[in-house]
Amino acid sequence: MKKNALIGVIVGSPVLAAGITYMTSSPKGGIPKHFAQEMTWVKCRNPKCGAEYQISKKEYFEYVEKHHDPRIPQAPSLICQQCGHICGTIRNPAS
Ligand SMILES: [Zn+2]
Repeated sequence: MKKNALIGVIVGSPVLAAGITYMTSSPKGGIPKHFAQEMTWVKCRNPKCGAEYQISKKEYFEYVEKHHDPRIPQAPSLICQQCGHICGTIRNPAS
């Protein structure tokens, strides 16, 4: 039974790793065309602002490609369109 739990942990983490790898290793112009039509939500983390707005996935991935820091294994933070601070975050469109 312990074996099953172990498999769950092993299967769970590569999903995140694959997403980061896609974002950081995709060649220039490698953003799928349909991303221009797919929208995703950004919610400002600044409690004084709290703005919510949508950007296309294409915009988001272009931003990530432009601002990604190779020393940091994470997607860069977005800059809020309302308050201009680095405070935006991506919210799952399905939620
Ligand atoms: Zn804001």
